[in-house]
Amino acid sequence: MDKSPITENEAVSRRSALLRLGGLAAGAIGAGFGARELLDGSTAEAAGTGPAAVAAGLVSCVLTPEQTEGPYFLEDDKVRRNITEGKPGVALTLRLTVLDVSTCKPIRNAAVDIWHCDASGAYSGVQGNSGSFLRGIQRTNAKGVTVFQTIYPGWYPGRTVHIHVKVALGGNVVHTGQLYFADRVTDAVYRRAPYRSRPSRTTRNAADSIYRNGGSRSTLKLVKAGTAYVGSLAMGVQRG
Ligand code: FE
Repeated sequence: MDKSPITENEAVSRRSALLRLGGLAAGAIGAGFGARELLDGSTAEAAGTGPAAVAAGLVSCVLTPEQTEGPYFLEDDKVRRNITEGKPGVALTLRLTVLDVSTCKPIRNAAVDIWHCDASGAYSGVQGNSGSFLRGIQRTNAKGVTVFQTIYPGWYPGRTVHIHVKVALGGNVVHTGQLYFADRVTDAVYRRAPYRSRPSRTTRNAADSIYRNGGSRSTLKLVKAGTAYVGSLAMGVQRG
């Protein structure tokens, strides 16, 4: 694929979103961004929520940098849970939670917009590609959770594996970021069809200039479920 990763490597905005830390991770917050105990929504719920929990030190929110939307965002993504449109690949369920940074409570009815490339590295609707595959919008439920059915993304030159995400509240974009995958998981997935028919990817997480600006804090927690994967992440946002 002849993509334009340079465009995506351009200006990274300084506006920040938040990932929530809780429970045992709270003790690591004073140490800065070393904490890796990112919690998904269900774990966060178990840890307790709301200002009292924050005051008690049970939960906290940690800033993570915004990341560029890149050149392939489209305005008219469809509202739908399953975005695969028949594209081949390893099944991936995304469970994304949106939290209010000021209260650490879940935000309902946030519009979460995701888009990513197919197993061959192509995005729909750009560069002569037809269709609207691997793009979609879902709204969070009362627990701040939204779920997508998709496939594990492929790769394109110059970028590590990623999924783009935007979160909007009442029509205002409050977060633009990218979701990442542990390299060892990607290695395992890429040994399978259809990914294995391509050459080795050019760029792993540590070598990706966008990932380096906070990617470790927007890396999905991945759990294997049969031949598929479930990826979870909690994203904190400001209501604006
Ligand atoms: Fe991209």
